[in-house]
Amino acid sequence: MKVLTKDPIIKNLIGENNFSDAAKQLFEIQKEQWSMLNSGFKSLATVKSKLFQFDGFKIKAQFNVGRMISTSAKVDPKSISERKCFLCTENLPEEQRGILYTDKYIILCNPFPIFPTHFTLTRKEHRPQRIFGAFSDMLDLSKDISRYYSVIYNGPRCGASAPDHLHFQAGNKFFMPIDDEFHQIKNEYGKEIIENDNLSVFAVDDGLRKFISIESLNKKLVVKVFKKFYNTYSELMNENQEPMINLISFYEEEYGWRIIIFLRAKHRPAVFFAEGEAKMLVSPAAIDLGGVCVFPREEDFYRITKEQIADIFKEVFVDEVVLKKLAEVIKL
Ligand SMILES: [Zn+2]
Repeated sequence: MKVLTKDPIIKNLIGENNFSDAAKQLFEIQKEQWSMLNSGFKSLATVKSKLFQFDGFKIKAQFNVGRMISTSAKVDPKSISERKCFLCTENLPEEQRGILYTDKYIILCNPFPIFPTHFTLTRKEHRPQRIFGAFSDMLDLSKDISRYYSVIYNGPRCGASAPDHLHFQAGNKFFMPIDDEFHQIKNEYGKEIIENDNLSVFAVDDGLRKFISIESLNKKLVVKVFKKFYNTYSELMNENQEPMINLISFYEEEYGWRIIIFLRAKHRPAVFFAEGEAKMLVSPAAIDLGGVCVFPREEDFYRITKEQIADIFKEVFVDEVVLKKLAEVIKL
């Protein structure tokens, strides 16, 4: 495959199973070779941000014009079927190179970054964005690049800009405030579901976000709890298709995996669809919910208030009843 890098340093790192440094090296090289990535990366230096302090956590608003296409992307089946898939290897830009991972995925640099180093991890073949069956791969990926990066997943109906092509994203650890604040949030707002030597599962409602967290060094246990969650949540939400979730997988050698499952009721808030003055271009997905809320239009960035951020977040999450029921069933 032409897209796969032949760089000898990267090949060496892959040979040592060091995908963290291989990915880091890919980003360094591609920045030099590929002008689109270079300008995307440079534009990050001019990104503006402002911080909203809530009780026990922060949400950063980021003005990032490079995210215009992604934030406003039309992801309805008709629009999707009428465009060329931008994640299929034959449609990637000429200069783009990637790293093959376990013969199933390709690690690519994202030319429209939010993270200082931002990757798209795409499935080699064109197949729909579905977490069931790919969750275990997500755990492996996040472990194998965990020296510097965490991995995120956006469901096909709540944030993925390619709902027809399976992909994850990865970016610098601790860039999203929740990476650092997780334990404080869990202690302050969490309700224990399962807690023993091998596994910790919590239901959390911090006033803005509702999520389930799974922590364990044991991959099988994480997968088992996730499957139970998935089935329960699908039933509760009365879904035949994938229930709306965004995931963050954060891995540390000493503690293992920490999965955050954001529980979504809505893809986009009402202000996204409003006309005129009331309109705000904001479309929350994993990174936004992790605490870096992206605004591609400057006017939205300047007028957004702490109260509005809180309202927008609350609006796109499930209600207390769903969280409570989920906790009850997962516990059994
Ligand atoms: Zn595709």
